[in-house]
Amino acid sequence: MTDYLKHRLAMVFDLEQRGIKNKRILDAFLNIPREEFVPTEYKKNAYYDGPLPIGSNQTISQPYIVALMTQMLDVRKSDIVLEVGTGSGYQSAILSRLAKKVISVEIIPKLVDFAKDNHSRCNIKNTEIYFHDGTLSLNQKFDRIIITAASQRLVKSWVEELKDGGILIVPEGDPDYQYLKRYRKIKGKLILEDMSVPVRFVPLTGKNK
Ligand code: SAH
Repeated sequence: MTDYLKHRLAMVFDLEQRGIKNKRILDAFLNIPREEFVPTEYKKNAYYDGPLPIGSNQTISQPYIVALMTQMLDVRKSDIVLEVGTGSGYQSAILSRLAKKVISVEIIPKLVDFAKDNHSRCNIKNTEIYFHDGTLSLNQKFDRIIITAASQRLVKSWVEELKDGGILIVPEGDPDYQYLKRYRKIKGKLILEDMSVPVRFVPLTGKNK
């Protein structure tokens, strides 16, 4: 067994201990090699439970938070998911194992290339990664939307692009302190369902932030 695989198994065990019980989610974490989503110099730390630098002043989120957001998103096999903030492509790779299709958008061109390379190396086929400002509309509807950068408010296009009954997960709050919030769209309006976990994400940028 390689060291990476050993560390991956330990990570999945730890996630389970900490309350991530869904088997499909744990399987996704077992199947996606996190070491492929960090720069070479951090590969040996790939399974440390914290964020790591991925260049351009951005970070790959810590495994536990990726798992928690994935669990909160409650993805079904038939879902089309939008992620705003591709970064390394790790979160979208995890989601690709659970959803029909994942569209992920990123505002930093270098990271678009980094994430695309990571997905093709891992042979992931049901994701599309675009260079796009996620505060602007894609003119498409999604079953689930996940924002992986800190937002001070709900952006109008997210509300519009979410299907009725759909779920939005967003780290929302001050630039240096947010809560992971789960909203559900009911009759055209977003209803806050959960805001129990404090987090610290890199800031959302873009035109309509
Ligand atoms: N989900 C990522 C980590 C996200 S880090 C992963 O799995 O590795 C947050 C990312 O959001 C950064 O890469 C940042 O460039 C991006 N971002 C910030 N504002 C954005 C916007 N308006 N549209 C798209 N991406 C944005």
